[in-house]
Amino acid sequence: MSGSLLFCLLSVACRYGVVPKKTNVLDRKNISEKNNGPSKKQAQKDQTAFKIPKQQIRENEGKTTASSIKENINQKKTFEDQTIRLNPAALIYNSPQYFQYKADSLQKAYSRDDYSKNIQLIIDQISAIPNSTLNPALNTDKWYTAIDFNIRKPNFIVLHHTAQNNVEQTLFTFSLRRPSKESSAHYVISRDGSIYQMLNDYVRSWHAGASKWGNITDMNSCSLGIEIDNNGEDERYSDKQIEALMTLLSHLKEKYKIPQSNFIAHSDIAPGRKNDPSKYFPWKRLADAGFGFWYDRNNLKAPPSGFNALWALRMIGYDISNPTNAFISFKHHYVQTDDREDVLTEYDKKLIYNLALKYQ
Ligand SMILES: [Zn+2]
Repeated sequence: MSGSLLFCLLSVACRYGVVPKKTNVLDRKNISEKNNGPSKKQAQKDQTAFKIPKQQIRENEGKTTASSIKENINQKKTFEDQTIRLNPAALIYNSPQYFQYKADSLQKAYSRDDYSKNIQLIIDQISAIPNSTLNPALNTDKWYTAIDFNIRKPNFIVLHHTAQNNVEQTLFTFSLRRPSKESSAHYVISRDGSIYQMLNDYVRSWHAGASKWGNITDMNSCSLGIEIDNNGEDERYSDKQIEALMTLLSHLKEKYKIPQSNFIAHSDIAPGRKNDPSKYFPWKRLADAGFGFWYDRNNLKAPPSGFNALWALRMIGYDISNPTNAFISFKHHYVQTDDREDVLTEYDKKLIYNLALKYQ
């Protein structure tokens, strides 16, 4: 390009104010200059916009937030529809309709409010910024946040029976405020196969109580509790109920990557204290579908000399601090005999040896 032509082009460009200036993009002064960046007012406006990107707002639309929890819970119209047609005066005491009416009344009176308050409490707890008041071991007030995290997931499923006569009674029980007798479960499965979810999977329900499995002493913190509606005595579990249960287990196993070994009974983790689910529970059927282990009935071998059945039970997970209770719990699950059978036979030892090999 000739010198005269370049001069001519620059003159034209200068006249119309479009000559690109040599500016440093890191120079704040230049950024705020007219024609080279937004005004101060505009910059403030843009800064505000940057804090909450529009894309993020769109993604959050329709999702549950702390302020909308209560509203979302109360929007479950199907709940209200179930009781609206019932006449309380005509209800038979302790009938399913009686408990349903009571459960629905409690839900409307305070259960849903309590649920949303507890959720808000959890949000407050996990939102708290670490400090030496919360953790006296901290000796610096500098908090550098790590940025990669999510919520903890359940790793065990603990199965129970309700020991009640109908699912409505259980829905009532878990809706009721019972100071010093609090209990809950994530799911309740009725005799007809209906599945009720009562708590979000990510919260800690109070279903396990004093319990131990392996070295875990807080089973509530790492498990989901599923209550299966059954009187706990002489009642068999219905096909519809077990099919519904397995559909649920399948979903949970996949979603939370729960290992096959970690589908266990309340009776397993609380020897001497709990006996649910009852001896009629079809553990083999579940194990065949990948939920829990079962022994190989046709491949039972005598254990090697020196085999210690009690220590094998410990390896599987049982609390053996009281050996008799450990034997009873094991037999309740795998031999499905009467609860007071507390002596191990040679056959039982074969079962334990066979099972223990699966936990290696
Ligand atoms: Zn239980």
